[in-house]
Amino acid sequence: MSATILDGRRIAAEIRAEVGVQVHALRQSGHQPRLAVVLVGDNAASAVYVRGKVKACAELGIASEQVLPRADIRTAELHRIIAGLNANPAVDGILVQLPLPAHIDAREILVAVDPDKDVDGFHPLNVGNLVAGRPGPRPCTPAGIIELLRRHRIAMEGQEAVVVGRSDIVGKPMALLLLQENATVTIAHSRTRDLAAVCRRADILVAAVGRPGFLGRDAIRTGAVVVDVGMNRLTDPTAMERFYPGDEQRRAAFARNGSTLIGDVDPVAAMELAAAFTPVPGGVGPLTIAMLMANTVAAAQRHVSRSKPTP
Ligand code: NDP
Repeated sequence: MSATILDGRRIAAEIRAEVGVQVHALRQSGHQPRLAVVLVGDNAASAVYVRGKVKACAELGIASEQVLPRADIRTAELHRIIAGLNANPAVDGILVQLPLPAHIDAREILVAVDPDKDVDGFHPLNVGNLVAGRPGPRPCTPAGIIELLRRHRIAMEGQEAVVVGRSDIVGKPMALLLLQENATVTIAHSRTRDLAAVCRRADILVAAVGRPGFLGRDAIRTGAVVVDVGMNRLTDPTAMERFYPGDEQRRAAFARNGSTLIGDVDPVAAMELAAAFTPVPGGVGPLTIAMLMANTVAAAQRHVSRSKPTP
């Protein structure tokens, strides 16, 4: 058996094309959607993510602005910046790139963002909306995974879904969204007893752990749909050979860069046992930015319809 590849790049392009049409309509009506990205300090990985987001905005005709405070900014000052963006009617979406420096309480800052401009869906009010099944922005990565499954016509209703990882950003919202799709959901984490046995129950297995190739053959049920959220840098050449035997392209890139990007699932085991699998890269990753664009445009649409005079 060889798993069908779930092509995140293709689905992300589809979503972006749909968002592009919505942006066009908004601009015709006189409003250009606008995203403000706050990037504190000089975390190299965060800077790469932010560049990707700003580039996606430009490609879709969404205006973007970057606010780049120094790493030693005080919490009160960051609050003032967020308050300014909240009050600015031209700004539809606000994104605070995580992680924030250790001296800043990230939770406090996320609460400061106007829930109506919270395009990441991290504000507690929007978390509550998600839990209650009320409308509101959904966290981008899990929302993108639901789109990926839907658009590949993978049934979720009545299926056993196991989500490994319980972070506020991926694991928890993923579990809630699968529940909303009427899956029977289990959340596993570092204290789960006999993790592999729990994972083997899954018709849909979502790995969001942050450990290279962590879930192996013993965790994958034959015929399962395996969604690999992990993005880890693998630097061990022996592990590289074990996870990607015969992959000349990857081997060459590894020789050039000294590392390769790998998910949380052993790709050899997934390709052999799963019915469908998201590759890394090119699976879940591209969907995150596509959904951020979708959330930004949805916020802009809300703002425009609210500012229309009532007849
Ligand atoms: P976190 O570190 O916040 O959470 C990791 C989760 O994995 C925790 O709940 C932890 O459990 C669990 N875990 C850790 N070790 C084990 C173990 N041995 N057995 C079972 N569970 C374990 O990570 P994130 O959720 O933020 O991210 C997860 C992965 O997804 C990372 O690789 C990240 O880079 C990637 N990611 C990818 C995105 C994309 O766009 N593709 C977007 C966001 C993240 P516990 O709570 O008990 O500690």
